[in-house]
Amino acid sequence: MLELRNVDTYYGNIQALKGISIDVNEGEIVTLIGANGAGKSTTLMTICGVTPPRSGEISFKGTPIHKMSTEKIVAMGLVQVPEGRRIFPTMSVLENLEMGTFLRRDKSDIQKDIDYVFDLFPILAQRRSQMGGTLSGGEQQMLAISRALMARPRVLLLDEPSLGLAPLIIKQIFEIIKKINQEQKTTVFLVEQNANQALKLADRGYVMENGHITLTDTAANLLDNEQVKSAYLGL
Ligand code: ATP
Repeated sequence: MLELRNVDTYYGNIQALKGISIDVNEGEIVTLIGANGAGKSTTLMTICGVTPPRSGEISFKGTPIHKMSTEKIVAMGLVQVPEGRRIFPTMSVLENLEMGTFLRRDKSDIQKDIDYVFDLFPILAQRRSQMGGTLSGGEQQMLAISRALMARPRVLLLDEPSLGLAPLIIKQIFEIIKKINQEQKTTVFLVEQNANQALKLADRGYVMENGHITLTDTAANLLDNEQVKSAYLGL
């Protein structure tokens, strides 16, 4: 469904992605794990057209997207939940959700989708009129995921949803990512430093080091891999 082939991305003279190739099949949860600065966020920004690749190809359902605008890429169904969440702090929960529908043409189903995300995250329903910036970190992450869902993604691109959250909240959010994948048939590409949780959730994984993909396998095999265990799982 989503294919990256030999992708190189630069920031000026600095090469952040060094010929990476990644495949995400329809219906899968695929995770990209790696240390700080490995290039994980850059991979997502490159897929979304924010930092387009200097060379290589990215295609979505067979259509090349590496030269498309971010707006077009989002309209095709690739929707990112960025690191640090970036919700609109002075807008209410409901207004944040409405912002997620910006590019949608089928406006009639919006209320149904609001009901769906409120069902996934009941705390957001209780806080529908509260300003986004006054929510807790976990609630902001829930709102960011919900806002992305309002765009009806075919592929949900998540950048470190566990960052800075308590273990119980992480567990809850990961369970809901699984639920979205199963109920909505949404394909998930999850970037995470929390390798243990990410590999437990995912079907397959990629390990990134210093701009290269160094390892790929089923998530179960990666959890069992000695190299992954010592470098990323603290075992
Ligand atoms: P983290 O988990 O800390 O977010 P990451 O794996 O997501 O790390 P990236 O943020 O993609 O890593 O960074 C990859 C490399 O690109 C790093 O060396 C980083 O310093 C560099 N980089 C990222 N953004 C920029 C930028 N806007 N300008 C210059 N260099 C950048």
